[in-house]
Amino acid sequence: MRRLILVKYAPEIFLKGLNRGKFEKKLKKNIERVIKDIPHELIIDQGRWFISGENLEDLIEPIRNVFGIAEVCIVREVESDLEEIKKEALEVIKEVSPKTFKVETNRANKTFPMNSMEISRTLGGYILSNTENLSVDVKSPEFMLRVEIRGKAYIYEDKIKAVGGLPYGMNGGTMLMLSGGIDSPVAGYLMAKRGVELSAVYYHSHPYTSERAKEKVKDLAKILSGYTGKVNLYVVPFTNIQMSIIENCREDELTIIMRRFMMRVACALAKNKGIQSVTTGESIGQVASQTMEGLVCSDNCSDRPVFRPLVTMDKVDIMDIARDIGTYETSILPYEDCCTIFVPKHPKTKPRLEEMVKSESVLNIDELVKEAIDNMETYEL
Ligand code: ATP
Ligand code: MG
Repeated sequence: MRRLILVKYAPEIFLKGLNRGKFEKKLKKNIERVIKDIPHELIIDQGRWFISGENLEDLIEPIRNVFGIAEVCIVREVESDLEEIKKEALEVIKEVSPKTFKVETNRANKTFPMNSMEISRTLGGYILSNTENLSVDVKSPEFMLRVEIRGKAYIYEDKIKAVGGLPYGMNGGTMLMLSGGIDSPVAGYLMAKRGVELSAVYYHSHPYTSERAKEKVKDLAKILSGYTGKVNLYVVPFTNIQMSIIENCREDELTIIMRRFMMRVACALAKNKGIQSVTTGESIGQVASQTMEGLVCSDNCSDRPVFRPLVTMDKVDIMDIARDIGTYETSILPYEDCCTIFVPKHPKTKPRLEEMVKSESVLNIDELVKEAIDNMETYEL
């Protein structure tokens, strides 16, 4: 007998028809990436993926966080031989020691001499006659003993819910506007979970925002890259843009015009790098610039789809995800960002697009965008 991890991928991948092979190949590569430093072996038995290794517990946590995996199970592998299966099934029941159980068998190997009903019944009888204080409950058993007969036979010990989603790298790319806050890393994570490849842009207002604020964003990108593999972070100098707005536009319009520039730069950079979309951490109604009217004004400057995966989420729920994915503690470090230093006292909450376009028309928009991108720094994290 040996213990293995059985990897079950998201049911959505089964629906990919002719593309399924490509999704599987990517998923395999992504699994290999997260466990490359832990000795293991990937075994495929009639379409099922198993991973063996010295210490399964070390392998489970990284594997269950790979996008596209629905569930990981710990199974015991034995020869497809009834006596061996009986012995191991009894062991598992003794270890779990439930009050009620049920056996469920799946026989993919049709050469096995009994059908699945007969196997379940035989195992159930054997277990009952070798234990005490245990009964069968077919409706809601405390423990479901699953048995699968393939090339070998597998007896399930435990199943652990995995992250779900789709294999990273299968659904195009996005330019994540990554600030040092709580929301944008979560937005990036959720896009990545649907298989979308991440690049990130951070607007840095030196000297109004410190070197430490930039390091914080790099740290956040690094945490995200733990889920995705390397992420490119573009740090774009934003001070000249903000100064031009402050000097030339009305105070209550600062935020909206600044956000319009953020969108322009993100789109220009995305275009430049061959990335199809932009993602932000905005949520409807959360702050003054995230009103419907505010979003109309910033979207007006985009030339590609803009994703806001948090748009319907409450802050408390976003914070829960941030804690789960390990970005929260970094996000709450108290370094200023470029939005907090130039905040108008009474920002417009219902900006009118025509007014914004008129106000900013005194600025040399194209030149400001170009200059910012020409002077950006690139980090591979
Ligand atoms: P976050 O927690 O992500 O900072 P927030 O609630 O503070 O979001 P805003 O500051 O209004 O909201 O920013 C909205 C979105 O704009 C952010 O989620 C992020 O996608 C983008 N953004 C804001 N500031 C920056 C920045 N300095 N660099 C890059 N993107 C930014
Ligand atoms: Mg912010």
